[in-house]
Amino acid sequence: MSTAEILSRHNIKPSLMRVMIFDYLKENRTHPTVDDIYKALHPAVPTLSKTTVYNTVKLFVKSGITKMVTIEEQQSRFDGCTDLHGHFICSECGGVFDFETEEPIVSGLSDFEISTHDVYCSGICKNCKKN
Ligand SMILES: [Zn+2]
Ligand SMILES: [Zn+2]
Repeated sequence: MSTAEILSRHNIKPSLMRVMIFDYLKENRTHPTVDDIYKALHPAVPTLSKTTVYNTVKLFVKSGITKMVTIEEQQSRFDGCTDLHGHFICSECGGVFDFETEEPIVSGLSDFEISTHDVYCSGICKNCKKN
């Protein structure tokens, strides 16, 4: 399915900027912030503003095609992969890495309604450990 089709299926009008931002999220599994996305795409699209990036990723999150990763208090990161997976944050380089996790990841909440399902770990990534 093309990006434009995915967006249309979620009732999002596939404008050029929206397609570019969604493609960027799909291709860059680095969990970029709004700033990161803006800095990466702005050279190619000088008319792009940070507000557009912000509003676009908010729209994607609302539509369920992007996940917001709030692993740090100061900033939100965005993830084009919405399948269940955990996030590891490196305290040295600040990198956020995906790891596999299996359902069910919680027990003892059978009468509760769970709306978000996030697994976070932190430590030192393998690249930083080498140095
Ligand atoms: Zn690291
Ligand atoms: Zn992720």
